[in-house]
Amino acid sequence: MSSLNFFAGVDLGGTKVNVTLLGEDGTFRITEMLESPSLVEQGPAVTLKQMELALRQAVDASGIGMSSIKAIGLDTPGPASAEGVISAQGSTNFGNPGWARFPIRDAFQQATGLPTVYANDGNAAALHCHRVKFGRDAKFSSLTAAVGTGLGGGIVVNGQLVAGATGFAAEAGHVVLPTRSLLEPDQPMPKCNCGREGDAEAWASLTGIRNNLLPYYLQKYPDHPLWHVDDVDGARAKRVRSYGEKGDAMARLIFKKQAIALALLFDIAMQLLDLDAFFVGGGIMQTKPEFREWFLSVLREHLPLRDEQKGVSVDIAPDGDMAGARGAARLALESWHAG
Ligand SMILES: [Zn+2]
Repeated sequence: MSSLNFFAGVDLGGTKVNVTLLGEDGTFRITEMLESPSLVEQGPAVTLKQMELALRQAVDASGIGMSSIKAIGLDTPGPASAEGVISAQGSTNFGNPGWARFPIRDAFQQATGLPTVYANDGNAAALHCHRVKFGRDAKFSSLTAAVGTGLGGGIVVNGQLVAGATGFAAEAGHVVLPTRSLLEPDQPMPKCNCGREGDAEAWASLTGIRNNLLPYYLQKYPDHPLWHVDDVDGARAKRVRSYGEKGDAMARLIFKKQAIALALLFDIAMQLLDLDAFFVGGGIMQTKPEFREWFLSVLREHLPLRDEQKGVSVDIAPDGDMAGARGAARLALESWHAG
C-alpha cells in the first residue's frame, strides 16, 4: 500500500469507460489504456455499475488500495452542464431516455462516496494538453480541438480552464465559419446536427464527412473505389481516413478542407484570445505520421498570424485516447489542492 494520495480520472465515452490514476506527486500510475464497455445505451443504472467496476479494476491493477483515492474527476461527452447534468436535448451519446437531465456527477459521487468533479471530455482533454506543455504556469493560454465523430474543444486561458457561465464554453464545433476558402461554387452549405449551417463541426468531423463532404466530393470522382462499398452505417465515411493515409486524391481534398476549417476556427480564437498554442486531437491524429504531419502543415499554412504571434504552436494532442481521463484526474487533483 502506498501512503501517497491518488486521484482517479474516469472518462465515460459513448462505448467505453477509460480510467487512470494520478499521484499527488503528479505522476500517472496507469500508462496503458485501461478501458471497459460503458453500456450507455442501457441507461444510467447499468453504466454507473460499469464505471464503479472500471474504477475498482484500475485501483486493483495498480495495487494502491481504494483508501488512497482522495477524489475523482469525471468527464463525459456533452452536452452537459458545468455540474455534470446531462442535457435533455441534442445528445448523440446519451440516447437512452434515462439520461435526460441525469445528474451523473452527483450519482457517481454517491455511488463511490468520494468527492467528484466534472468536466466535459473536450475540456478535460484540453486541460491535460495544456498542463503537459505549460505545467501550472499562469502565463499561458491554449485551445484544444478534438476531431472525431464530432468536434470537441476546450480552452485554457492564463492557466485556467474556461467553463463559462453555464458550462458550455469552448463549444468550438459550433462556431460558424466564413466559407470563402471552403465552399465550392456548386457545393451545398454543410449542415451540423446542432441545427447550424457551416459551423466547424459540419466541416471538420467524421459526421461532417458522412453528411456533407463525402456526398459532395464522391460525385466528383465517379471512378472512386468507395462507390463499391455498401454505405451501411456510414461505412464509406469511416474509410475516408485510410484512403487519406494512402494519399488518395479525393480523401486528401476532403482532409485539406478540414484542415482549412480548423485554421479558420483557430484564427477566430486567435483574434479573441491571443493564444500561445493549439492542440489537435481525436481520431484524425491517430493516423500514420506522414498523414498527420501533412494535415497539420496544411492547417499551419492557412492560419494567418501577426508577426508578434509567430511563436504560436500547433501540435498533436499528447497521449491520444487517454487525454480525457488524464485531464479529469488532473482536475480532481487541482480541485483537491484548491480545497
Ligand atoms: Zn454545430
